[in-house]
Amino acid sequence: MNKPALNNLDASSHSTAPASLDNPVALRRTVLLVEDNPLDARLLHELLTDAASRATSELYEVVNVRRLQEALDMVRERSFDVILLDLSLPDSQGLESFERLFAIASDTPIAVMTGLNDDALALLAVQKGAQDYFVKGQVSTPLLVRSLRYAIERHRMQSQLRKLSLVDEMTGLYNRRGFLTLADQQLKTSQRSGGKVWMFFADLDGMKLINDNFGHSEGDWAIIKTAEILRGTFRESDIIARFGGDEFTVLATLNDNDADDKILERLQNNTRALNEKYRRPFSLRISVGSAHFNPKTIRSIEHLMSEADKALYEQKRHKRHDV
Ligand code: GH3
Ligand code: MG
Repeated sequence: MNKPALNNLDASSHSTAPASLDNPVALRRTVLLVEDNPLDARLLHELLTDAASRATSELYEVVNVRRLQEALDMVRERSFDVILLDLSLPDSQGLESFERLFAIASDTPIAVMTGLNDDALALLAVQKGAQDYFVKGQVSTPLLVRSLRYAIERHRMQSQLRKLSLVDEMTGLYNRRGFLTLADQQLKTSQRSGGKVWMFFADLDGMKLINDNFGHSEGDWAIIKTAEILRGTFRESDIIARFGGDEFTVLATLNDNDADDKILERLQNNTRALNEKYRRPFSLRISVGSAHFNPKTIRSIEHLMSEADKALYEQKRHKRHDV
Protein backbone atom coordinates (compact mmCIF):
# COMPACT_ATOMS: atom_id res chain seq x y z
CA MET A 1 0.00 0.00 0.00
CA ASN A 2 1.28 3.43 -0.87
CA LYS A 3 1.82 5.61 2.10
CA PRO A 4 0.62 9.21 1.91
CA ALA A 5 3.49 11.65 1.68
CA LEU A 6 4.17 13.77 4.70
CA ASN A 7 6.13 16.33 2.82
CA ASN A 8 6.29 18.82 5.59
CA LEU A 9 8.15 16.30 7.77
CA ASP A 10 10.28 14.63 5.15
CA ALA A 11 14.02 14.37 5.36
CA SER A 12 14.04 16.16 2.03
CA SER A 13 12.21 19.15 3.46
CA HIS A 14 13.14 19.61 7.08
CA SER A 15 10.39 20.88 9.27
CA THR A 16 11.46 23.54 11.67
CA ALA A 17 9.46 24.54 14.68
CA PRO A 18 8.19 28.09 14.36
CA ALA A 19 10.34 30.66 16.06
CA SER A 20 8.86 31.51 19.39
CA LEU A 21 7.95 35.13 19.87
CA ASP A 22 7.40 34.46 23.57
CA ASN A 23 10.80 32.95 23.90
CA PRO A 24 13.48 34.41 21.63
CA VAL A 25 16.33 32.66 23.48
CA ALA A 26 14.78 29.20 23.24
CA LEU A 27 17.15 26.27 22.92
CA ARG A 28 17.00 24.61 19.53
CA ARG A 29 17.00 20.80 19.51
CA THR A 30 17.28 18.72 16.37
CA VAL A 31 15.47 15.39 16.44
CA LEU A 32 15.86 12.57 13.93
CA LEU A 33 12.52 10.78 13.95
CA VAL A 34 12.82 7.29 12.45
CA GLU A 35 9.19 6.34 11.96
CA ASP A 36 7.51 4.89 8.88
CA ASN A 37 3.90 5.27 9.97
CA PRO A 38 2.77 8.71 8.72
CA LEU A 39 0.11 9.11 11.40
CA ASP A 40 2.54 8.34 14.23
CA ALA A 41 5.14 10.61 12.66
CA ARG A 42 2.67 13.46 12.41
CA LEU A 43 1.47 12.97 15.97
CA LEU A 44 5.01 12.98 17.40
CA HIS A 45 5.88 16.01 15.33
CA GLU A 46 2.86 17.84 16.67
CA LEU A 47 3.65 16.83 20.25
CA LEU A 48 7.14 18.22 19.90
CA THR A 49 6.18 21.46 18.29
CA ASP A 50 2.94 22.27 20.07
CA ALA A 51 2.42 25.24 22.33
CA ALA A 52 3.29 23.36 25.51
CA SER A 53 6.75 22.42 24.24
CA ARG A 54 7.42 26.01 23.15
CA ALA A 55 6.62 27.16 26.64
CA THR A 56 9.45 24.94 27.94
CA SER A 57 12.11 27.09 26.26
CA GLU A 58 13.01 24.38 23.76
CA LEU A 59 12.29 24.45 20.04
CA TYR A 60 12.33 21.18 18.18
CA GLU A 61 13.38 20.74 14.58
CA VAL A 62 12.14 17.33 13.47
CA VAL A 63 13.58 15.44 10.52
CA ASN A 64 11.55 12.37 9.64
CA VAL A 65 12.92 9.33 7.80
CA ARG A 66 11.01 6.10 7.28
CA ARG A 67 13.63 3.41 6.85
CA LEU A 68 16.60 2.38 8.92
CA GLN A 69 18.91 2.73 5.92
CA GLU A 70 17.82 6.36 5.51
CA ALA A 71 18.55 6.95 9.20
CA LEU A 72 22.03 5.40 8.85
CA ASP A 73 22.74 7.63 5.84
CA MET A 74 21.37 10.69 7.62
CA VAL A 75 23.51 10.36 10.77
CA ARG A 76 26.61 9.96 8.62
CA GLU A 77 25.73 13.25 6.95
CA ARG A 78 24.81 15.49 9.88
CA SER A 79 24.48 15.46 13.63
CA PHE A 80 21.33 15.48 15.78
CA ASP A 81 20.71 16.25 19.44
CA VAL A 82 18.60 13.14 19.84
CA ILE A 83 17.17 10.25 17.81
CA LEU A 84 13.66 8.84 18.25
CA LEU A 85 13.64 5.35 16.78
CA ASP A 86 10.63 3.18 16.08
CA LEU A 87 11.78 -0.42 16.56
CA SER A 88 9.48 -1.69 13.84
CA LEU A 89 10.54 -0.41 10.41
CA PRO A 90 9.99 -1.69 6.87
CA ASP A 91 13.66 -2.64 6.41
CA SER A 92 14.59 -3.63 9.97
CA GLN A 93 12.81 -5.04 13.00
CA GLY A 94 13.28 -5.09 16.74
CA LEU A 95 16.55 -4.80 18.58
CA GLU A 96 18.56 -5.09 15.38
CA SER A 97 17.31 -1.62 14.33
CA PHE A 98 18.65 -0.14 17.54
CA GLU A 99 21.96 -2.01 17.42
CA ARG A 100 22.72 -1.00 13.85
CA LEU A 101 21.97 2.65 14.49
CA PHE A 102 23.77 2.68 17.85
CA ALA A 103 26.89 1.16 16.21
CA ILE A 104 27.39 4.25 14.07
CA ALA A 105 25.64 6.93 16.16
CA SER A 106 26.76 6.04 19.69
CA ASP A 107 27.62 9.70 20.28
CA THR A 108 23.94 10.67 19.88
CA PRO A 109 21.33 9.75 22.50
CA ILE A 110 18.69 7.38 21.14
CA ALA A 111 15.19 6.85 22.60
CA VAL A 112 13.23 3.92 21.20
CA MET A 113 9.50 3.56 20.55
CA THR A 114 7.54 0.32 20.59
CA GLY A 115 3.98 -0.89 20.31
CA LEU A 116 1.76 -1.63 23.30
CA ASN A 117 3.00 -5.11 24.12
CA ASP A 118 6.70 -4.66 23.55
CA ASP A 119 7.89 -3.42 26.93
CA ALA A 120 10.39 -6.27 27.26
CA LEU A 121 11.96 -5.40 23.92
CA ALA A 122 12.20 -1.73 24.88
CA LEU A 123 13.90 -2.63 28.16
CA LEU A 124 16.43 -4.75 26.29
CA ALA A 125 17.23 -1.75 24.10
CA VAL A 126 17.80 0.36 27.22
CA GLN A 127 20.15 -2.30 28.59
CA LYS A 128 22.07 -2.10 25.31
CA GLY A 129 22.48 1.67 25.53
CA ALA A 130 19.19 3.36 24.56
CA GLN A 131 18.55 6.36 26.78
CA ASP A 132 14.80 5.84 27.18
CA TYR A 133 11.74 4.21 25.62
CA PHE A 134 8.17 5.18 24.82
CA VAL A 135 5.13 3.08 24.22
CA LYS A 136 3.25 4.46 21.23
CA GLY A 137 -0.10 5.94 22.07
CA GLN A 138 0.96 6.69 25.63
CA VAL A 139 3.01 9.80 24.97
CA SER A 140 2.12 13.34 25.94
CA THR A 141 4.00 16.54 25.21
CA PRO A 142 5.31 17.06 28.78
CA LEU A 143 6.44 13.43 29.00
CA LEU A 144 8.14 13.49 25.61
CA VAL A 145 9.86 16.83 26.11
CA ARG A 146 11.06 15.97 29.60
CA SER A 147 12.28 12.57 28.55
CA LEU A 148 14.19 13.91 25.53
CA ARG A 149 15.75 16.63 27.64
CA TYR A 150 16.92 14.06 30.21
CA ALA A 151 18.13 11.71 27.48
CA ILE A 152 20.31 14.47 26.01
CA GLU A 153 21.63 15.57 29.41
CA ARG A 154 22.31 12.03 30.68
CA HIS A 155 24.11 11.16 27.47
CA ARG A 156 26.26 14.30 27.71
CA MET A 157 27.24 13.44 31.28
CA GLN A 158 28.04 9.83 30.36
CA SER A 159 30.29 11.04 27.52
CA GLN A 160 32.10 13.38 29.88
CA LEU A 161 32.60 10.62 32.45
CA ARG A 162 33.90 8.31 29.73
CA LYS A 163 36.41 10.97 28.71
CA LEU A 164 37.52 11.35 32.32
CA SER A 165 37.93 7.62 32.71
CA LEU A 166 41.32 5.97 32.27
CA VAL A 167 39.88 2.67 31.10
CA ASP A 168 38.64 1.57 27.68
CA GLU A 169 35.09 0.28 28.04
CA MET A 170 35.23 -2.35 25.31
CA THR A 171 38.42 -4.15 26.32
CA GLY A 172 38.99 -3.19 29.95
CA LEU A 173 42.53 -2.07 29.01
CA TYR A 174 43.72 1.47 29.72
CA ASN A 175 42.55 4.04 27.19
CA ARG A 176 44.66 6.77 25.55
CA ARG A 177 44.39 9.05 28.54
CA GLY A 178 45.18 6.21 30.98
CA PHE A 179 48.18 5.18 28.92
CA LEU A 180 49.68 8.65 28.59
CA THR A 181 49.21 9.36 32.31
CA LEU A 182 50.67 6.09 33.58
CA ALA A 183 53.39 5.66 30.95
CA ASP A 184 54.71 9.15 31.58
CA GLN A 185 54.95 8.29 35.28
CA GLN A 186 56.67 4.97 34.49
CA LEU A 187 59.27 6.67 32.27
CA LYS A 188 60.16 9.09 35.04
CA THR A 189 60.59 6.20 37.48
CA SER A 190 62.76 4.29 35.00
CA GLN A 191 64.88 7.36 34.39
CA ARG A 192 65.72 7.38 38.08
CA SER A 193 66.15 3.63 38.54
CA GLY A 194 67.74 2.95 35.15
CA GLY A 195 65.31 0.09 34.28
CA LYS A 196 65.05 -1.35 30.77
CA VAL A 197 61.87 -0.07 29.10
CA TRP A 198 60.41 -0.89 25.70
CA MET A 199 57.52 0.69 23.94
CA PHE A 200 55.34 -1.43 21.62
CA PHE A 201 52.86 -0.01 19.13
CA ALA A 202 50.45 -2.61 17.72
CA ASP A 203 47.79 -2.32 15.02
CA LEU A 204 45.41 -4.95 13.68
CA ASP A 205 45.86 -5.81 10.02
CA GLY A 206 42.86 -5.50 7.72
CA MET A 207 40.41 -4.26 10.34
CA LYS A 208 38.36 -2.40 7.74
CA LEU A 209 38.04 -5.61 5.72
CA ILE A 210 36.80 -7.50 8.79
CA ASN A 211 34.16 -4.81 9.40
CA ASP A 212 33.13 -4.65 5.75
CA ASN A 213 32.97 -8.40 5.13
CA PHE A 214 31.78 -9.80 8.46
CA GLY A 215 30.08 -6.87 10.23
CA HIS A 216 30.93 -4.39 12.93
CA SER A 217 30.30 -6.84 15.79
CA GLU A 218 32.93 -9.21 14.37
CA GLY A 219 35.23 -6.17 14.19
CA ASP A 220 34.54 -5.54 17.87
CA TRP A 221 35.26 -9.21 18.60
CA ALA A 222 38.65 -8.85 16.86
CA ILE A 223 39.49 -5.84 19.06
CA ILE A 224 38.44 -7.62 22.26
CA LYS A 225 40.47 -10.74 21.37
CA THR A 226 43.52 -8.65 20.51
CA ALA A 227 43.31 -7.19 24.01
CA GLU A 228 43.19 -10.76 25.35
CA ILE A 229 46.31 -11.69 23.35
CA LEU A 230 48.19 -8.66 24.65
CA ARG A 231 47.22 -9.45 28.26
CA GLY A 232 48.53 -12.99 27.78
CA THR A 233 51.78 -11.77 26.22
CA PHE A 234 52.86 -9.04 28.63
CA ARG A 235 53.20 -8.92 32.39
CA GLU A 236 50.53 -7.72 34.77
CA SER A 237 52.80 -4.81 35.71
CA ASP A 238 53.21 -3.60 32.08
CA ILE A 239 50.98 -0.76 30.89
CA ILE A 240 48.74 -2.08 28.13
CA ALA A 241 46.24 0.22 26.42
CA ARG A 242 43.81 0.40 23.58
CA PHE A 243 45.09 3.70 22.27
CA GLY A 244 42.19 4.15 19.85
CA GLY A 245 40.34 2.17 17.13
CA ASP A 246 42.46 -0.90 16.35
CA GLU A 247 45.67 0.58 17.79
CA PHE A 248 47.24 -0.70 21.00
CA THR A 249 50.21 0.53 22.99
CA VAL A 250 52.31 -1.23 25.62
CA LEU A 251 55.02 0.16 27.84
CA ALA A 252 56.90 -2.84 29.16
CA THR A 253 59.62 -2.98 31.78
CA LEU A 254 61.91 -5.82 30.83
CA ASN A 255 64.20 -7.99 32.94
CA ASP A 256 67.85 -8.25 31.96
CA ASN A 257 67.26 -11.63 30.31
CA ASP A 258 64.11 -10.45 28.41
CA ALA A 259 64.58 -9.51 24.78
CA ASP A 260 62.03 -7.63 22.72
CA ASP A 261 62.19 -10.18 19.91
CA LYS A 262 61.27 -12.94 22.39
CA ILE A 263 58.21 -10.94 23.38
CA LEU A 264 57.22 -10.46 19.73
CA GLU A 265 57.61 -14.20 19.20
CA ARG A 266 55.34 -14.86 22.18
CA LEU A 267 52.81 -12.41 20.73
CA GLN A 268 52.77 -14.17 17.37
CA ASN A 269 52.45 -17.61 19.08
CA ASN A 270 49.53 -16.39 21.19
CA THR A 271 47.87 -14.93 18.09
CA ARG A 272 48.28 -18.21 16.22
CA ALA A 273 46.85 -20.17 19.17
CA LEU A 274 43.81 -17.88 19.33
CA ASN A 275 43.17 -18.17 15.58
CA GLU A 276 43.32 -21.97 15.86
CA LYS A 277 41.02 -22.00 18.88
CA TYR A 278 38.21 -19.92 17.33
CA ARG A 279 38.56 -20.74 13.64
CA ARG A 280 36.77 -17.65 12.45
CA PRO A 281 36.42 -17.07 8.67
CA PHE A 282 39.22 -14.53 9.08
CA SER A 283 42.50 -14.66 11.01
CA LEU A 284 43.67 -12.06 13.47
CA ARG A 285 46.98 -10.55 12.41
CA ILE A 286 48.77 -7.94 14.45
CA SER A 287 51.62 -5.70 13.28
CA VAL A 288 53.95 -4.37 15.95
CA GLY A 289 56.64 -1.71 16.05
CA SER A 290 58.90 -1.33 19.06
CA ALA A 291 61.37 1.19 20.43
CA HIS A 292 63.78 1.06 23.31
CA PHE A 293 63.71 3.83 25.87
CA ASN A 294 67.07 5.51 26.09
CA PRO A 295 66.92 8.44 28.55
CA LYS A 296 69.90 10.06 26.76
CA THR A 297 68.10 10.36 23.43
CA ILE A 298 64.36 10.05 24.18
CA ARG A 299 62.80 13.01 25.86
CA SER A 300 59.16 12.07 26.47
CA ILE A 301 56.54 9.37 26.14
CA GLU A 302 55.32 11.07 22.94
CA HIS A 303 58.83 10.89 21.50
CA LEU A 304 59.15 7.19 22.43
CA MET A 305 55.72 6.50 20.88
CA SER A 306 56.67 8.20 17.68
CA GLU A 307 59.79 5.97 17.41
CA ALA A 308 57.67 2.84 17.93
CA ASP A 309 55.10 4.17 15.45
CA LYS A 310 57.81 4.58 12.78
CA ALA A 311 58.82 0.92 13.31
CA LEU A 312 55.16 -0.12 13.04
CA TYR A 313 54.77 1.85 9.83
CA GLU A 314 57.81 0.06 8.37
CA GLN A 315 56.34 -3.32 9.27
CA LYS A 316 53.02 -2.47 7.64
CA ARG A 317 54.85 -1.28 4.54
CA HIS A 318 56.78 -4.56 4.28
CA LYS A 319 53.64 -6.62 4.74
CA ARG A 320 51.84 -4.69 1.98
CA HIS A 321 54.86 -5.12 -0.25
CA ASP A 322 54.89 -8.90 0.42
CA VAL A 323 51.17 -9.16 -0.32
P1 GH3 B 1 45.85 -1.71 8.19
O1 GH3 B 1 45.88 -3.17 7.81
O2 GH3 B 1 46.77 -0.86 7.35
O3 GH3 B 1 46.05 -1.49 9.64
O4 GH3 B 1 44.39 -1.18 7.82
P2 GH3 B 1 43.05 -1.46 8.61
O5 GH3 B 1 42.05 -2.03 7.65
O6 GH3 B 1 43.30 -2.24 9.87
O7 GH3 B 1 42.54 -0.01 8.98
P3 GH3 B 1 43.22 1.07 9.93
O8 GH3 B 1 44.13 0.42 10.92
O9 GH3 B 1 43.79 2.15 9.07
O10 GH3 B 1 41.93 1.68 10.62
C1 GH3 B 1 41.27 1.01 11.67
C2 GH3 B 1 39.84 0.71 11.31
O11 GH3 B 1 39.24 0.10 12.47
C3 GH3 B 1 39.02 1.94 11.03
C4 GH3 B 1 37.71 1.72 11.72
O12 GH3 B 1 36.72 1.51 10.75
C5 GH3 B 1 37.87 0.43 12.51
N1 GH3 B 1 37.50 0.59 13.91
C6 GH3 B 1 37.98 1.52 14.77
N2 GH3 B 1 37.42 1.35 15.99
C7 GH3 B 1 36.56 0.31 15.89
C8 GH3 B 1 35.67 -0.33 16.82
O13 GH3 B 1 35.55 0.00 18.00
N3 GH3 B 1 34.97 -1.40 16.35
C9 GH3 B 1 35.06 -1.81 15.06
N4 GH3 B 1 34.33 -2.87 14.68
N5 GH3 B 1 35.87 -1.21 14.16
C10 GH3 B 1 36.61 -0.17 14.57
MG1 MG C 1 44.67 -1.58 11.33
